[in-house]
Amino acid sequence: MAFSAKTRRYLVAFLIIGWSITLIYSLSRSNPPKYPLKAKRLYRDNRLLMGTFWQVSSPNNQAGAIVFSEVSRIQQLLSKYIQTSEISRLNRLGRLKVSADTFFVIKKSQEFCRLTQGAFDITVAPLVDLWGFTNQEFQVPSDDKIRAVLELVGSDKIILHEKDNVVEFKIPGTRIDLGAIAKGFALDCAVKKLKENNIDSCLINAGGQVYALGNKFGQAWKIAIRGANKSEITTTLELKNKSASTTGNYEQFFFKNGKRYCHIIDPRSGYPAQTQITSVTVVADQGLTADALSTSLFVLGKKDVEEILKKFPGTLVKIY
Ligand code: AMP
Ligand code: MG
Repeated sequence: MAFSAKTRRYLVAFLIIGWSITLIYSLSRSNPPKYPLKAKRLYRDNRLLMGTFWQVSSPNNQAGAIVFSEVSRIQQLLSKYIQTSEISRLNRLGRLKVSADTFFVIKKSQEFCRLTQGAFDITVAPLVDLWGFTNQEFQVPSDDKIRAVLELVGSDKIILHEKDNVVEFKIPGTRIDLGAIAKGFALDCAVKKLKENNIDSCLINAGGQVYALGNKFGQAWKIAIRGANKSEITTTLELKNKSASTTGNYEQFFFKNGKRYCHIIDPRSGYPAQTQITSVTVVADQGLTADALSTSLFVLGKKDVEEILKKFPGTLVKIY
């Protein structure tokens, strides 16, 4: 059968197109796409809360709103910078009936004080003020002033009335500062809310502290801890249902006569902690434990780490 040149061109084009469609179809049947068509997606949300930058990452787009609402609630109770918070009112009045959450955190703080032989102490508040860390008007106080303020410091100055959630200070002038434990507690509360909403995968980063809930698409969450020099990563961690908290001498400090003074105060001496530690990272099951313990170990220094950790089985510590 003879075809004209034009018909032959149409025929060849038709065969090539038909063959290409068959090839693509058969390839797609035999080799399923390497990546699923629906990409694994993480939703990210940021908010400034409790004086720090919070970042929430989760495959669930509701996670950020749930976390921020719960952390705002805790901030309204525990912040010493909010005049109407329970902590501010307690500090002004010296006696207050508080919420179950506030009572719980103060009670836990008392326990940490006992377990760390006074290195962790929320009655450190008047000392934090005296050294200027509350209003950033830094000063090196005289020994006399430090001695006078130390009279107000000590967990024995707090009386807890379990029956009716009343907190009372033994002497006028005692005040508390939950800056070393409140963020960790807020993380725990946020995680509880996420679980109540059936969200089982989320990473919350609250400044120097993270909580990794569940897995990230089947793998543990990978966390990089940055050191004093922000561009340098000192350690990487793989976390699942754990919190990691870092306390560092580079977070807040000032220099006077060539000496460096940081925002972590040793409540036993009244002076900023003078350990050889640049930073300490604690990994624990609870945000509250990681937070309080990283501050405590910073005060205590390397020599006491092993002894203290016996009281907190399962915790991991990295010191620089
Ligand atoms: P963090 O960054 O978690 O270690 O907490 C530091 C904050 O905790 C400081 O800014 C103070 O408000 C407070 N703080 C300082 N020293 C102590 C201490 N020895 N015990 C408890 N809280 C402290
Ligand atoms: Mg802390």
